[in-house]
Amino acid sequence: MQSTLRVVLGDQLSPAIAALADIDAERDVVLMAEVQAECTYVKHHAQKLVLVLAAMRHFAQALQARGVRVDYVRLDDPANTHTLRGEVQRAAARHALARVVATEPGEWRVAEDMRCWQALLGGIEVEIRDDARFFCRIQDFIAWARGRKTLRMEFFYRDMRRRHGLLMEGGEPVGGRWNFDAENRKALPKTVRPPKIPAFPPDGITRDVIALVNARFPDHVGSTDGFSWPVTAAQARVALEDFIAHRLPQFGDWQDAMKTGAPFLFHALISTSINLGLLDPREVCEAAEQVFRDGQAPLNAVEGFIRQILGWREYVRGLYWLHMPGFGQQNYLKATRPLPAFYWTGETPMNCLRQAIGDTIAHAYAHHIQRLMITGNFALLAGIDPAAVDDWYMAVYADAYEWVEMPNTRGMALFADGGIVGSKPYAASGAYINRMSDYCKTCAYDVKDAVGPRACPFNFLYWDFFARHRQVLGGNIRLAMPLRTLERMDVGKVSRMREKARAFLDSE
Ligand SMILES: Cc1cc2nc3c(=O)[nH]c(=O)nc-3n(C[C@H](O)[C@H](O)[C@H](O)COP(=O)(O)OP(=O)(O)OC[C@H]3O[C@@H](n4cnc5c(N)ncnc54)[C@H](O)[C@@H]3O)c2cc1C
Ligand code: SF4
Repeated sequence: MQSTLRVVLGDQLSPAIAALADIDAERDVVLMAEVQAECTYVKHHAQKLVLVLAAMRHFAQALQARGVRVDYVRLDDPANTHTLRGEVQRAAARHALARVVATEPGEWRVAEDMRCWQALLGGIEVEIRDDARFFCRIQDFIAWARGRKTLRMEFFYRDMRRRHGLLMEGGEPVGGRWNFDAENRKALPKTVRPPKIPAFPPDGITRDVIALVNARFPDHVGSTDGFSWPVTAAQARVALEDFIAHRLPQFGDWQDAMKTGAPFLFHALISTSINLGLLDPREVCEAAEQVFRDGQAPLNAVEGFIRQILGWREYVRGLYWLHMPGFGQQNYLKATRPLPAFYWTGETPMNCLRQAIGDTIAHAYAHHIQRLMITGNFALLAGIDPAAVDDWYMAVYADAYEWVEMPNTRGMALFADGGIVGSKPYAASGAYINRMSDYCKTCAYDVKDAVGPRACPFNFLYWDFFARHRQVLGGNIRLAMPLRTLERMDVGKVSRMREKARAFLDSE
């Protein structure tokens, strides 16, 4: 009896994934494989490895409980070839196959590999299906992009709101506006205490994976200690419900705030689950809309949250596939410095970086503004090589997959794409960090100073950045203000700041 091999990748853990859509439980086999190549192409954070492998094992168990035959290859299987293609080939030899069905992957390099499978399998038909877990299919994004001069997220987002009817009333946006972002940039008052987040202590399956990861990947960043990410769809739903009930109402107000010792604040902590397939983005957005309709969360919070998922998440995915493989080569500002060693340890006197990197190493998580305006902003101002920055973000965050990491890193944070994702670089001096966080209060540097012995590095790096790139950024109307300020600045002060920047960067 010939069967279909249904390949499920580690970030495709949804029962409704396209590869399983028409499964015949009697005849078909699901292949899931833990392979070294995927665990090591960057040195992923120990908690990310535990998360993906534990979620895969739980998902396989859930499929088996439904009577589905799962051919599950473990990392410590002596026959494991440790590549996806090797495991598909071995599975083809184990089972009498009529065809192979897979769902399109989230990374270009895996998509390229999949294109070779049919030839490797001696002509057994390989069908690669669209990933229907997104609101916008890749072809639909490409059609939307065709003929447009600029691909601004805001216009894409409005289209998506209309198309999917989220937060709409009679063809118009609820509340009469598409975007409430201006209301979502408040600093966190001292008196506001972020709520506790739910914990998901490891069960037996996850404890086995923790032991495996500790034994096999001791040189990867971070530790498995305190691992508490949701690894099943049921846990992910609990995490979502907790966010909706306790943090969503204030999500908008404090979305951009940063606070020492409070890595999660009012954020959702659901990117790991959505990216793995444990949560469906539709279910997430509909749940958020419902609490607004029930009067339990304000519009600025719910719109701000839905925009992140229906807007940003879909938009960066579309841009990734539209521009790959070229996206991975973009380096508009010709940045070449190596990544400073402190990115891997957090050991720097710059308190903002110490906090953001410390949170990252401890939890494989930092929230958006820490990623964008602290670690990303520093890498932008310092001119760090985008490839090194990409590798760092891919390695350290539990939610990192190239389709979502690269446009955020190269595009949003580094402006290496020359303005595809954002219309200007998100460059900021210490004043922004001081406004949005409590980090500067206990820092060794003085955030108000740009030239003295205790000058905040973000200040002199900020002006050095604009001085360095004034030619290439000069035509950008959105940068007219900082560039004009730079022109009017005392020449001696500018050269002192540039000298400080040079000395500082050379010492890192
Ligand atoms: C330099 C940089 C690198 C990033 N790398 C990743 C990454 O590898 N993986 C990843 O999932 N996100 C990435 N992001 C986006 C964002 O920072 C994370 O999705 C978010 O911090 C996850 O935490 P949360 O679930 O608490 O999100 P919340 O702040 O609560 O937001 C809710 C959800 O919106 C989505 N979202 C928000 N912003 C974005 C965005 N810019 N792009 C895509 N989705 C978004 C996520 O699914 C997130 O779970 C990156 C951002 C930057 C600036
Ligand atoms: S003073 Fe400068 S380096 Fe220190 S925390 Fe503030 S912004 Fe960061």
